[in-house]
Amino acid sequence: MSYFKTNIDNMTAYVPGEQSAAAGVIKLNTNENPYPPSPRALEALGGLTAEQLRTYPDPTGRRFAEAAGKLLDVSADWILPGNGSDNVIVMIARACSGPVAIPSPTFPYYETQAQIEDIAIREVPLDSEFRLPVQELIDAAAAVTFVANPNSPTGTAAGFEELDALAAGLCGKGILVIDEAYVDFAEADAVSLARKHENVLLLRTLSKGYSLAGLRLGFAVGNPVLLDGLWKTKEIYNVSEPTLAAGIAAIEDQEHMIANAEKIKASRAKLTAALETLGWRVWPSQTNFIMARPPQGNAEEIYETLKAKNIFVRYFKHRMLIDKLRITIGTDEQNEKMLEALPKA
Ligand SMILES: *Cc1c(COP(=O)(O)O)cnc(C)c1O
Repeated sequence: MSYFKTNIDNMTAYVPGEQSAAAGVIKLNTNENPYPPSPRALEALGGLTAEQLRTYPDPTGRRFAEAAGKLLDVSADWILPGNGSDNVIVMIARACSGPVAIPSPTFPYYETQAQIEDIAIREVPLDSEFRLPVQELIDAAAAVTFVANPNSPTGTAAGFEELDALAAGLCGKGILVIDEAYVDFAEADAVSLARKHENVLLLRTLSKGYSLAGLRLGFAVGNPVLLDGLWKTKEIYNVSEPTLAAGIAAIEDQEHMIANAEKIKASRAKLTAALETLGWRVWPSQTNFIMARPPQGNAEEIYETLKAKNIFVRYFKHRMLIDKLRITIGTDEQNEKMLEALPKA
């Protein structure tokens, strides 16, 4: 006997990367930013008043929406704040009218939410170079198509033409969600596609580029008709007042975010070159991590070796990832320690 719905009994829970607080751990497993967030965000938190905490936050997060809209050159009613972009994925799954299409491998949380809502899932594999299967995704004709771009855990990105064609091919049939969690480390964004196609919805987060994973703030960008369904499925006060206050301060400090992203991109190039010298294959990354295959393909063994030395990277038991590791870009010092800890060939 079970107290739960059959689909809940049958699903497996999302497995987050280890969050060890132990001293001396080098955490290169959950794509956190190694640099601190904007001091202005911390000031906003320190300056919170009793009145701000006594009352409920603005359920629409209007001031944050105005700041985010200004940054992206869209009006504030194109922005819907979430308690992390994970929270927006929940709203999308709740509002969803039919099957979802999900490329594979990608961020597993889309599948988790579809399973919770008991929605059919059409899994569409990336090709062996992790390219987006545009035509197959159009043919799947799902109510919602999730594309993380740049993608996790592969780090690769589809180009403008591919996403444009995908959006056009799905128009009138379903929503194209472009999850831009890693856009701050990428060469391009898809804001123009959200303006061009009525069915394109973008997801953004302050967890990666803005070093605010602990704050829990993400948002959707899309036309108000598309956002209307999500407003209905949103929890009433999903984003707290402290989170909104710090989020506004962080998003207004572009200089700080961009300087850190530049450092990470430089470290990414260095780490890529170092691994390639050691015979690894590294896929071109537009994110703050790399997907890399060791020369012997013994990824799991290397994952365990590093873990025993308190260096956490991510290993996925996915058919296409079994011989690869996902390594978050840390500071140069952390990356060098990871390189030194690799088993000698
Ligand atoms: C990290 C990540 C998220 C989650 O972002 P939060 O705002 O922290 O919930 C969403 N999508 C992808 C692809 C991610 O890698």
